[in-house]
Amino acid sequence: MTRTHDYDLLVVGAGSGGVRAARVAAAHGARVAVIEEHRIGGTCVIRGCVPKKLLVYGAHFAEDLVDARRFGWTVGDAKFDWPTLRDNVLAEVSRLSGLYADTLANHKVETISGRAVFTGPNSVRVEARELSAHRILIATGARPHVPDVPGAEHAFTSNEAFHLDAVPTRVVIAGGGYIANEFAGIFHQFGAEVTLLNRSDQILRGYDEQIRDRLLQISLTKGIRFLFNTKMQSITRNANGTLTLALSGSASAVECDALMFATGRVPNTDGLGLDQAGVALDDAGAVRVDEDSRSTTCESIYAVGDVTNRVQLTPVAIREGQAFADSVFGGKPTRVDYNCIPSAVFSHPPLAGVGMTESQARNRLGTVRVYTSDFRPMKNVLANRNERALYKLVVDEATDRVVGAHMIGPDAPEILQLAAVAVKAGLTKPQFDECVAIHPTMAEEMVLLK
Ligand SMILES: Cc1cc2nc3c(=O)[nH]c(=O)nc-3n(C[C@H](O)[C@H](O)[C@H](O)COP(=O)(O)OP(=O)(O)OC[C@H]3O[C@@H](n4cnc5c(N)ncnc54)[C@H](O)[C@@H]3O)c2cc1C
Repeated sequence: MTRTHDYDLLVVGAGSGGVRAARVAAAHGARVAVIEEHRIGGTCVIRGCVPKKLLVYGAHFAEDLVDARRFGWTVGDAKFDWPTLRDNVLAEVSRLSGLYADTLANHKVETISGRAVFTGPNSVRVEARELSAHRILIATGARPHVPDVPGAEHAFTSNEAFHLDAVPTRVVIAGGGYIANEFAGIFHQFGAEVTLLNRSDQILRGYDEQIRDRLLQISLTKGIRFLFNTKMQSITRNANGTLTLALSGSASAVECDALMFATGRVPNTDGLGLDQAGVALDDAGAVRVDEDSRSTTCESIYAVGDVTNRVQLTPVAIREGQAFADSVFGGKPTRVDYNCIPSAVFSHPPLAGVGMTESQARNRLGTVRVYTSDFRPMKNVLANRNERALYKLVVDEATDRVVGAHMIGPDAPEILQLAAVAVKAGLTKPQFDECVAIHPTMAEEMVLLK
């Protein structure tokens, strides 16, 4: 490898993809530095998956404390204190960020603080420092999209959600994706009056229709309000501190105390100087890469994770980082397999899916068989909670292969992770049936579907 550059590899962004790539490349013997403008760990650790999941855990206590009474517990005057949860979550985030920094240091990866801007195909500038590398990996992730609406500065995004002074009394969440639905559940459980406002009449595009419908029905029953086919025209801050949202569609105006934008995430390529390096972007501003995560227009530059806008999930960014480092520095050419990637929404209740939805399977395969189990989990029955779970297997009629598994209900993501192994492995419905159930569980429904 050439020694004419400062490093073998410079990684821009110490998030899920960047940290994995840096650490593995260093373990393969490369001289590596990673540049981070915010905090080591990236979105997932600092303001994404991890703090979000901890808030979801916190939110669950609201219903658990109510249900506990039916299980014989005397629950005193239970009160929720947001600053306690927020500060404990932020402390855990700092602890994890420290662990990531330690991992990099232990692998002899140099960490450089500051914002990197490309100055050429082999060089970046970090403040006054010019650094060069044989290869550069763009792992800058994505950021919340903020719609171009007058008054947008009054809203917050998922970046700020973890730092709020208080849980808003009335909050409107704009968006219909997983972040919108997760925060709708979180704020609702913490006692807020939640309205989800969406341009279309669908939530969670890409997930199975029946499962999405079930979440919508349960959310409505819990008291979350939905405004579909509605666009925001402007946001005004009133003298008393509240916000007035001027709308078009199913309502003309809404008053609230806080507005959250959860309207998608855009690749972080603005102001990165990529034109200096001749790196091509697609229409969404994502770095164009080939199957090896190499820029299609600059051979010394690679990109992994959200900045490439392939599948914006942490485990995917990690795999892409690993595949890049193994291929380029470890002599083990590896490509990421994007087929059958499971995913989950940590809503209340959570949902998860893998493989084809029913309608995708009908469109692609023609004849399919669908097995469903629509049941009230045992715990909900005793708790008098009228909330039903729904499990679903989509089977290719021609081969008997299970091509999709989808579920909503308590612990659905935990259960689906293992069902995803079977779907990915191409197991058939009779092979699911051959497996003896673990009783009594909710997961046993997956092997008892008739
Ligand atoms: C609220 C929320 C919840 C989520 N929940 C989940 C979940 O449950 N499961 C899941 O799989 N995924 C989840 N995600 C998505 C997940 O966080 C991302 O897919 C993942 O973090 C992408 O990793 P990455 O390495 O591409 O980028 P990131 O982790 O975003 O890291 C990019 C890093 O680059 C840094 N950076 C950017 N530009 C520069 C620059 N010019 N110079 C130096 N540094 C720079 C940034 O500060 C950042 O630290 C969630 C995201 C959000 C926002």
